[in-house]
Amino acid sequence: SPIILWFRRDLRLSDHPALHAACKTGRPVIPVFILDDLVEGLGAAPKWRLGLGVEHLSRTLSDKGSCLILRRGAAMDVLQELIGQTGAGAVYWTRAYDPDSMDRDRSVKARLKEDEIEARSFGGHLMFEPWTVETGQGGYYKVYTPFWKNVKDRNVEAPLPTPGQIPAPGSWPESDALGDWQMGKAMRRGAEIVRPYVRLGESAAQSRLGAFMAQRVADYTDDRNRPDIDGTSGLSENLALGEISPQQCWHAGIRAREEGKRGAETFLKELVWREFAYHLMYHTPRILTGNWREDWDAFAWNEDERRAEVQAWKQARTGIRFVDAGLREMYVTGRMHNRARMVVASYLTKHLMSHWKIGLRWFEDCLIDWDPASNAMGWQWSAGSGPDATPYFRVFNPVTQLDKFDPKGAYQRAWIAEGQSTPPDTALSYFDAVPQRWGLSAGDSYPEPVVSASDGRQRALNAYENRGF
Ligand code: FAD
Repeated sequence: SPIILWFRRDLRLSDHPALHAACKTGRPVIPVFILDDLVEGLGAAPKWRLGLGVEHLSRTLSDKGSCLILRRGAAMDVLQELIGQTGAGAVYWTRAYDPDSMDRDRSVKARLKEDEIEARSFGGHLMFEPWTVETGQGGYYKVYTPFWKNVKDRNVEAPLPTPGQIPAPGSWPESDALGDWQMGKAMRRGAEIVRPYVRLGESAAQSRLGAFMAQRVADYTDDRNRPDIDGTSGLSENLALGEISPQQCWHAGIRAREEGKRGAETFLKELVWREFAYHLMYHTPRILTGNWREDWDAFAWNEDERRAEVQAWKQARTGIRFVDAGLREMYVTGRMHNRARMVVASYLTKHLMSHWKIGLRWFEDCLIDWDPASNAMGWQWSAGSGPDATPYFRVFNPVTQLDKFDPKGAYQRAWIAEGQSTPPDTALSYFDAVPQRWGLSAGDSYPEPVVSASDGRQRALNAYENRGF
């Protein structure tokens, strides 16, 4: 009987343990993608990007003589219906680790077993399953460095090849049309603005990894901090949707290290930051919804999203150049340099004393590389409420940060049009992207800071001290 291969955030054919296992049985494989409530509930940009990824996967499967079946509804209902229509005897999938997906998968597994259908979940999204990394006392890690030390010398399995053939059933069940799902409907800015920046699919991700290892990894340790340089791998959007596996990145990094490329070790460490974020989400899912450090619950974060200062932050007109450049980069490209992410997050939570959840949600709406674990860890780290976080008194100075990491001003020129006689297309495209009702124009003069670097710092420090942190 056929095996249903339930694709979720694992949109690739190579190094795909579930697909590999299914193909090895020689039984027909029916790939399916389900638009359920969890997919419906994604932020605008991640949902749109997922739609592109699904479309691409569908083409890749067709090239292999297979076919991606698209269905909409509650996962269990869809699977049961498909089982009824195809006589499938098994459902395979790649594990997810966020609490909502885990709840869904647990109940799907239990129901399938009751119906005597084989239900198997596989690894593939992470290198180290969260329950396999334990402290000496048998608990989970709350600090990154010992986590890194625990995993750094582990044997990470070699990536699996793309199946030569994906056995097809005699006939295919019906499929929805992806266009009818309107995955990009909620994109406020036109999808055509962001589209040129998307690196779609498995082969684009592999080329990017290869080019990074050939050209950039050697200088990565320094260049990764420079938003004016294309010095990072740019693989986060592909990792987020499983268009490349962390194992594939890890092995490429190990090879580069063996070849003596200096930045390779730093790259491996960054991949492990991603693992650490998942480790935290798995063991403490509250990281997604509340202060990870509960003593922070006593801190009176301002949660009012309508405040003028917060609106200025979202609309990237705070008058602080690094903050605005980062937020504009995200609005246009769906990505933001890591250094800028840290600076914009620090400014929102410290200078503007706004709840990190406001920023977390804005990123969730705008990023094409949105990842639940890394986003939550990044925001709580920046705010000071997270594990291994920056101490509250470490307030990034967005002005000196820009001087240091954008020494020639290339990043700010790329994104801030105001005041330039001939602004580059990137900076102008921000004004094409924003909704008209924001009333912004490239010809406006650049705003004064809503809160200056020094006033904001002092205000935040006073607030923290009064709370006795
Ligand atoms: P590279 O520098 O090439 O790193 C390689 C890979 O390592 C990345 O693709 C990513 O998977 C992982 N990685 C690197 N840095 C981190 C990090 N700090 N935390 C976790 N994993 C990391 N990353 C996301 O993928 N999705 C998010 O939604 C996200 N939100 C963030 C929010 C905030 C406030 C902050 C401070 C960071 C956030 N990050 C997020 C982490 C980081 O900014 C991005 O992973 C990185 O900028 C992606 O660029 P790259 O692929 O070129 O990274």
